[in-house]
Amino acid sequence: MRRPKLLKLTLENLVSKPATVQYPYQPTVIEPDFRGRHYADLSKCTGCSLCSIECPADTIKMTPIPQEYEVPKSNPRRLYPLINYGRCIFCYRCITVCPFNAYVTTNEYRLADTAKNDSSELSLSTLKKTVKG
Ligand code: SF4
Ligand code: SF4
Repeated sequence: MRRPKLLKLTLENLVSKPATVQYPYQPTVIEPDFRGRHYADLSKCTGCSLCSIECPADTIKMTPIPQEYEVPKSNPRRLYPLINYGRCIFCYRCITVCPFNAYVTTNEYRLADTAKNDSSELSLSTLKKTVKG
């Protein structure tokens, strides 16, 4: 690149807005349709396993609902889809195939965690507890 051109480019960049944001001090811009963390609302889920069967990343494990939770009669097997976010590719196929519209979607993208990173807490929070735990 010739010097006058380089100088012009340098001066332009000095006065232009930065192309990046200072995350985490500034929030990241997120499109409304961004596919973020999702989980099953267990007041709607019937435990049918369809989402688990259809998941292309094999990341949904049908899991027993702990005894201390009230489970709807529509879920006689007391199972729920547990999503491992570390394996998920966020294709949202599980959401598309669920016949009961049981999935809740969010645009939460901050998924890094040192503890377990799955949907258990969010899903179980959609049920009442039978006893105080
Ligand atoms: S978004 Fe896709 S990869 Fe993730 S749990 Fe659902 S079906 Fe599986
Ligand atoms: S497809 Fe829907 S109803 Fe069936 S297990 Fe998955 S979330 Fe529950």
